Amino acid sequence: MTPPAHDVLIIGAGLSGLGVASFLKDKRPDIRFLVLEKEDRPGGAIASHCEEGFLAEIGPHGFLDNCLESRVLVGLAGLGREVEKAPLRKFVRYVCLKGQLNLIPQQPLRILRAPLISWPAKLRILADLWKKPLAGEPSVARWVSYRFGPALLPFADAVFTGTYAGDIERLSIDAVMAGVRDLEQEHGSVIRGLWARQRRNKAEGQEKKGGLPAMTSFASGMARLPQGLAAGLQVNREIMFNTEVRTLVREEDGWLVQTRRNEFRGRHLVLALPVNAALALLADIDDLTPPPVSAIPEARIVTIALGFSEEAKIPFGFGYLAPESEQRFALGALFSSHMFPGRAPMGHQLLEVLVGGRRHPERLEMEDGELIEAAYQDLRQLMDLPEPPGYARVLRPGGGIPQLERGYPALLAWRNSLQAAAGNLHICGFGWKGIGINDMAKEAWAVARRILSQRLEEEENQVKGVYF
Ligand SMILES: Cc1cc2nc3c(=O)[nH]c(=O)nc-3n(C[C@H](O)[C@H](O)[C@H](O)COP(=O)(O)OP(=O)(O)OC[C@H]3O[C@@H](n4cnc5c(N)ncnc54)[C@H](O)[C@@H]3O)c2cc1C
Repeated sequence: MTPPAHDVLIIGAGLSGLGVASFLKDKRPDIRFLVLEKEDRPGGAIASHCEEGFLAEIGPHGFLDNCLESRVLVGLAGLGREVEKAPLRKFVRYVCLKGQLNLIPQQPLRILRAPLISWPAKLRILADLWKKPLAGEPSVARWVSYRFGPALLPFADAVFTGTYAGDIERLSIDAVMAGVRDLEQEHGSVIRGLWARQRRNKAEGQEKKGGLPAMTSFASGMARLPQGLAAGLQVNREIMFNTEVRTLVREEDGWLVQTRRNEFRGRHLVLALPVNAALALLADIDDLTPPPVSAIPEARIVTIALGFSEEAKIPFGFGYLAPESEQRFALGALFSSHMFPGRAPMGHQLLEVLVGGRRHPERLEMEDGELIEAAYQDLRQLMDLPEPPGYARVLRPGGGIPQLERGYPALLAWRNSLQAAAGNLHICGFGWKGIGINDMAKEAWAVARRILSQRLEEEENQVKGVYF
């Protein structure tokens, strides 16, 4: 049998695949890797749309600058100077309650003092100190209601609408906030767990400095990040576009990957794909323990970019989210040109309205014109928009957002045992362990580190073989 031509084959040139490739190349330029991407561009879910001076995002709008791995990737992409930041301290967020936008203070104590919920509801939060850990795998809604009281549900709803476009009645708390659930199990209370962590950090001199992080993007939009990372790879030697992987075959000394016309062999295989795309490829491998589920739900959204003149009175800040209990058309909107002024031409402002999500997939069936009109009518009830938008564009992402719902922890455990058993199979990407860009960057580094340490071990063994 021919020995593998590549040390590492990476499937997918989204942020995860490009992240693994860039970390490997940076640490060990001698590693032979190849990224295979089915589309003709890098970036996957990350894509920006520039038109008539308005710059909107089809996928992610940014990421927080509190993750070392993401910062390293920005450096490896050579984009240090193109970074744009909107500090959370300045760019306040709003939540829609009873048909009005309410400012959410940026610090926990100020949140408690704000008149967002009644005093009895505030006192109910403290019941967390005495509540036993909730057994089983509860939904986010059930868990929040049990620990902190039902008055916090609209806020939890807003948080998980903003991240997952999800449904808190279905998202699993163990999947989406595993760290908080650990605090609950370990300390019997989330509040007590947070205090303990604070005390430990203080004792170890690791107190957080510098306050709140900043939302980060690039002057020409988020697509710049995958473009920058891909530019560091040699086309057709290190990255191939228009190359869809169809089959994976396990071989004695690695993996055989088949596309329509070609075959590639590699010692290590990295699946840097959204959960469902990875499960579809893994399904055809012989002798594989079957996963507990063959696919997970996804939430699809559309972004409606609306450009207004300066007459529009858009509240200053990051944007707002509307919990389901408000029964509004839009999930929320980003005040994009407040955060990043270059997103609209002079004298104009840009709003990006999010519609659909896990609870309203039917809205994605609407025609563009209907979506624009419904979004405008919804928003003008919340802010002073005297005229219809002068610019409007509906942006429809190609894929959905993986939903980590009930049963998901079992799927993650299956992935972990598969990786541990195989040694040369690595699975990361959209939805596996978190869904944000920072989660992808951390997982990409974890994969690269595993491959690098195995490589080091192999080299040490070879050296021992020669001298002893
Ligand atoms: C609408 C939307 C809004 C978001 N907003 C935010 C946000 O504001 N902040 C944030 O942090 N995160 C956000 N995210 C999440 C963020 O975009 C993802 O975490 C990240 O882009 C996932 O990267 P990935 O490489 O894991 O997956 P993907 O980006 O999906 O990349 C996977 C790649 O694999 C390729 N591929 C698939 N199958 C094959 C195959 N068989 N052969 C070869 N190639 C294949 C695909 O073409 C794709 O390029 C958002 C996501 C969406 C969809």
